[in-house]
Order: sequence, then structure tokens, then C-alpha cells
Amino acid sequence: MRKKIVAGNWKMNKTFLEAEELVAQVAEALEKRKLDNKAVVLCPPFPYLELTTDIAKESKFQVGAQNVYPEDNGAYTGEVSPPMLESMEVEYCIIGHSERRKYFAENHDFLARKLDALLKHNIIPIFCCGEVLSERKAKKHFKVVETQLNESLFHLKKDEVSNVVIAYEPVWAIGTGVNATAEEAQEMHAFIRGLVAKKYSKKLSEEISILYGGSCNAKNAKELFSNPDVDGGLIGGASLKSEDFLAIVDAL
Ligand code: PEP
Repeated sequence: MRKKIVAGNWKMNKTFLEAEELVAQVAEALEKRKLDNKAVVLCPPFPYLELTTDIAKESKFQVGAQNVYPEDNGAYTGEVSPPMLESMEVEYCIIGHSERRKYFAENHDFLARKLDALLKHNIIPIFCCGEVLSERKAKKHFKVVETQLNESLFHLKKDEVSNVVIAYEPVWAIGTGVNATAEEAQEMHAFIRGLVAKKYSKKLSEEISILYGGSCNAKNAKELFSNPDVDGGLIGGASLKSEDFLAIVDAL
């Protein structure tokens, strides 16, 4: 079912004590809020997953990982598998983030494998897509996003893709302080929903959550989220301070 979601991607930030403090602050603040059909997801670094899932058991947020390796186990030093995440009650996992595409050379095929591996273990993938600035300037942004979806996502069956969350994250907006305008976000989200409708069905396209990510903050969240095809946000920098993150949750 289509859900409103705010997910915080902490990236490689926070010491253990800082992480403990931030999770506790979010948990406490959410106690006083009615979330209804909204999901709040915290995606801390791997070493803090246990701390976060422990607190989540008594709280109103869910937990996501920032990465996964697409094998169940084996000789993959340093990697973390879907069964490990599943066994820790991690419910979401970000994949396809532009930082992983750029710094770790993750390509379409590898991301397709990650999607399959996560779905096999009942973890909801948050699949990121988005164009770099030169591609937008060259008016290739729709084509770029279409290719990312075609090559990594659209091999899934209907009942599989209905368990995926898509995050449109224009790369030029990530961590830059320059967000996409509400119109730019809506235009791309409607385009993505249209592609899902064409590939699968209109009904399914209306059930899938599509999040916006890229310099979303307490000030611009309300306007971005007010668009009919924007179902919430994937939040980087502004998820690192509880007041900022909770203001974004409240904007949903
Ligand atoms: C992100 O990295 O997913 C992100 C959206 O970052 P920021 O909010 O800092 O732009």
C-alpha cells in the first residue's frame, strides 16, 4: 500500500554515543506523535543497527540499512548480507545511492542483484535513482532515470515491485543545499509513476511510494511533500539533528 515515508540516511556519520543520543531523541519525540499511515525510518551505519533495532522495538520508527551485499553468506570480507539484516529485524535497505554508484562503481546489474537479494529476505529496498547536473542541463534527466529503472528494477515481477520504494534523488541536489523545486520533483515523480504504470499497471503505480531526496530540509519539506506524486523524503544531512529531522516528519 502507498505509504508516506520519511527516511533518514545518516551516511558515515556519528560516534556510538552520538548515535545512541540521536535515536533516543527521535524515539522520544515520536511517542507524542500520531503517525497513522506514515513511516519513519532511520538508516544508521551498520555498527549502530543493533542499538537502533533494539530501541525501535519499543518505538514508532523502523530501521533501514544503508547497503547490502547480494549473497546470503560466504567469503566476502567486510560485507553484510540480507539474512544478517533480516535476522536483526532491519526492514528497509537503501540501494542505488549515487554515492555508491560513484565511489564504489555499483552498476545497474549489481543493483538488480541487490534488489532480488533483499526481496528474497523480505527487506524493503529503497531504490535510488537520479541524474547528475550535466545530464539535467543536457535535458537527458528523464532518459537517465528511465534507464536506471529499466536496467535495475523492471525485471521484477508485479508482486515484487509492489514491495519496493523508489527515491528520486537528483545528484546535483544531494548535500549541496540546492534542492529540486517542487515542480521539478513533481514532474519527475509523475514520470516515474507513469513508467511503473506502463510496465506493470496503473493500480500498481498508484500503490508505490516515491520519495524525494536532495537537500530536503525543515524549510522546504512541506512544499516538496505537498505534490501529489511525492510520498515523502530520503533525508541526508538534515537527518543528523533530531529537531531538523522531526520537523521534516511533521511536514509529511
Ligand atoms: C541523501 O544522501 O540521500 C540525501 C538526500 O542527502 P542530503 O539530504 O544531505 O542532500
